[in-house]
Amino acid sequence: MDIRKVSVIGAGQMGNGIAHVFSLSGYEVLLHDVSEAALAKAVKSIDFNLNRQVSAGRISEADKADALRQITAVNHLSECGKADLVIEAVTERETVKAAIFEDLTPHLLPGTILTTNTSSISITRLASRTDRPERFMGFHFMNPVPVMQLVELIRGIATDEHTYQTLKTVVEQLGKTPASASDFPGFIVNRVLMPMINEAVYVLLEGIGSVEAIDSSMRLGANHPMGPLQLADFIGLDTCLAIMNVLFDGLGDSKYRPCPLLTKYVEAKWLGRKTRRGFYDYSGETPVPTR
Ligand code: NAD
Repeated sequence: MDIRKVSVIGAGQMGNGIAHVFSLSGYEVLLHDVSEAALAKAVKSIDFNLNRQVSAGRISEADKADALRQITAVNHLSECGKADLVIEAVTERETVKAAIFEDLTPHLLPGTILTTNTSSISITRLASRTDRPERFMGFHFMNPVPVMQLVELIRGIATDEHTYQTLKTVVEQLGKTPASASDFPGFIVNRVLMPMINEAVYVLLEGIGSVEAIDSSMRLGANHPMGPLQLADFIGLDTCLAIMNVLFDGLGDSKYRPCPLLTKYVEAKWLGRKTRRGFYDYSGETPVPTR
């Protein structure tokens, strides 16, 4: 199947990155968000990030102009139905995602492939809320999308081979590398990554190390490019907590229980970089550890 027109639903940090890479690869992109402010901010971020690529000599001014021309911001979800491929990238909450697929279903073309960028929620369960579970897949981009090489492809129990092969080709056309994962909580990346981040928050809670000590230990001692708390702030603490809850509920093992300090930060709406405070304070020029 030839994919040309792509709808991206949710224009937060992932949605704007996904729209960025598809437009740069020549796909026509419809970008939607329930919040008009988020949609306007996303278009600005894409412009800013394309400029950075121009300055670094990775793309030309003409590439940037072509990419921006490919993107149309749309205010109504129904407008997203007339596409070859839909990528849902809204907040990591199953009720919100399920409602979007249900509302979108009457507006789809017969052949539209539906995907979700969820970090952890069951693909099979989301697919069951649509009229086409065989043309439904997990399409998990990494953050920041323009930089990160991997895309996890997650087949639900009903996903057909044609859908998988079509999306594998799309990933390759974007210049990225696909990894195939089964539909179990957290898939591959987050099943391994999130318990490590959660454990780092326990280490902080138990006073074993400060934010700085934990992050520099993992950077310099384990050769990770970012410390786990720095990475948690980058991902968003609400997203981290949501993923831990999916692992805990879905796998039923107490080793996945979310750290109470992570819950506390989310309750305080200290969600990391996106709210300018998490394990670091981002209000100044350089991030300052908060503990
Ligand atoms: P975000 O909070 O930056 O953006 C979410 C966006 O969804 C917001 O702009 C919000 O207004 C919008 N939204 C909420 N409800 C909506 C609705 N009903 N209709 C349309 N838009 C709606 O979150 P994010 O970090 O971009 O995460 C989005 C998805 O990507 C989540 O499923 C998350 O698990 C996944 N993901 C996140 C990361 C990461 O590092 N942040 C990495 C991979 C995958």
